[in-house]
Amino acid sequence: MTPPHTPDPDAPLDAVVVGAGPAGAAAALELARAGRSVTLLERGPYPGSKNVYGGVVYGRVLDDVLPHWRDEAPVQRWVVRRSTMLLTAQRALSADLRAQDWGAPPHNGMTAYRADFDSWLAHKAVAAGARLLTSTVATGLLRDPTGSFTGVRTDRPAGDLTARVVIACDGVNSFLAKQAGLLPAADTAHHTLGVKEVIGLGRDTIDERFGLRGTDGADIEMLGHTRGIPGGGFLYTNTDTVAVGAVLSLTGLAQAGVRPEEVLTDLKRHPAIAPYLRGGTVEEYSAHLIPEGGYDRMPRLVDDGLLIAGDAAGMTLAAGIWLEGVNFAIGSGLAAGRAAANALATGDVSARALAPYRRDLESTFVLADHKRLRGAPGLVLSDRVQHRYPHLLTDLAHGVFTVTNPEPKPGIAALLRRSARRNGVRLRHLAADAWRAWRVFR
Ligand SMILES: Cc1cc2nc3c(=O)[nH]c(=O)nc-3n(C[C@H](O)[C@H](O)[C@H](O)COP(=O)(O)OP(=O)(O)OC[C@H]3O[C@@H](n4cnc5c(N)ncnc54)[C@H](O)[C@@H]3O)c2cc1C
Repeated sequence: MTPPHTPDPDAPLDAVVVGAGPAGAAAALELARAGRSVTLLERGPYPGSKNVYGGVVYGRVLDDVLPHWRDEAPVQRWVVRRSTMLLTAQRALSADLRAQDWGAPPHNGMTAYRADFDSWLAHKAVAAGARLLTSTVATGLLRDPTGSFTGVRTDRPAGDLTARVVIACDGVNSFLAKQAGLLPAADTAHHTLGVKEVIGLGRDTIDERFGLRGTDGADIEMLGHTRGIPGGGFLYTNTDTVAVGAVLSLTGLAQAGVRPEEVLTDLKRHPAIAPYLRGGTVEEYSAHLIPEGGYDRMPRLVDDGLLIAGDAAGMTLAAGIWLEGVNFAIGSGLAAGRAAANALATGDVSARALAPYRRDLESTFVLADHKRLRGAPGLVLSDRVQHRYPHLLTDLAHGVFTVTNPEPKPGIAALLRRSARRNGVRLRHLAADAWRAWRVFR
């Protein structure tokens, strides 16, 4: 690793990275470590100040780059309980995994506040030699006469920042990727809207209600009870607050004429969720878009002098039972930083010289996971999975566990036929979806 250096603020830059979220911080870290002069631009007053997510970071992507991250990162809790809940208005059916080993290294997920986590990661890049410019908006891309990207326009009095490479990590709906022609101007069909509340409850109450101790945390994902709008809900524990939210199809919201807060209120009032939240105080409300297009809708990732990473490239994995984005942002940011550093070293930053970026991503979890799960968004957001199966399965479980004496038990096959009939599901569709799910998730 090349030792950190202090860049001259007036010298032409090797790279400018736009957005100090996890993707941008990771890209800047790699470039700075490679001895490159790099400026990390952030529109907020500090990294993470504007960033919204549910709350779980899967940090193992950092093992090689920041081997001590487990001791240093601003962890709220380590997730040891992972529950998936199917909801109907009056019922809930859960698969509830308790994995106490996740509370110790190598760990699995941790809850963290983005203001803390993004600042921590961005300052790792600064410690490696990157320059962080906050309260600065990139307002456009600069191009030379050949069409190659050569920096960004900003809203600072000093104006433009020229650089040999630009890395756009400006998040979902990336303004820069759109300006470069890599993303379509509007694509509501492939985005969801996430809304979230942070609710203060106190550490002891959280421990008691979620069955936790010490730094143990819980992650509950919900499917169903979203007024027919494709999407789902989540409930995560921080140290003394919980994050509760809903992720909802934009087109579904528009068609239903429902506000996302109304769906969130329904989830919070559900008899399986309300007892966790009773007596809590809402401390924060936020909303943000999520890219849902998956592998098949990912844009071209490079152009001459330009790379895009993280949500700007649509790299969130929102596949029903998974909601991961920070790990993909870090993984792609690191790969973009590496590709840029290698290209800079050869003196050629054309799209062809930056092409190894995509190959790098294809060979790691970043695109391998997206490729493997490319059919997941279509399946998980389908009408039967969203609306009929939560009813069918809770109905089936209800039938199995209802003791009908003096009638004898009806038998599971009969109960399944009855639940399918009641909920408008044909058994051949159930079998076809089970086969499809097997092919998508295997
Ligand atoms: C409701 C919700 C729940 C989620 N839950 C999870 C979860 O639990 N776990 C998980 O891993 N992922 C989750 N995600 C996804 C995750 O938040 C994203 O995948 C991740 O933040 C992407 O990181 P990024 O660095 O690409 O973009 P971002 O985190 O969005 O960072 C982009 C940065 O660029 C800055 N910026 C934007 N435009 C400009 C500009 N023009 N000039 C300067 N700066 C600019 C922004 O201020 C921001 O700091 C969730 C998302 C939502 C919305």
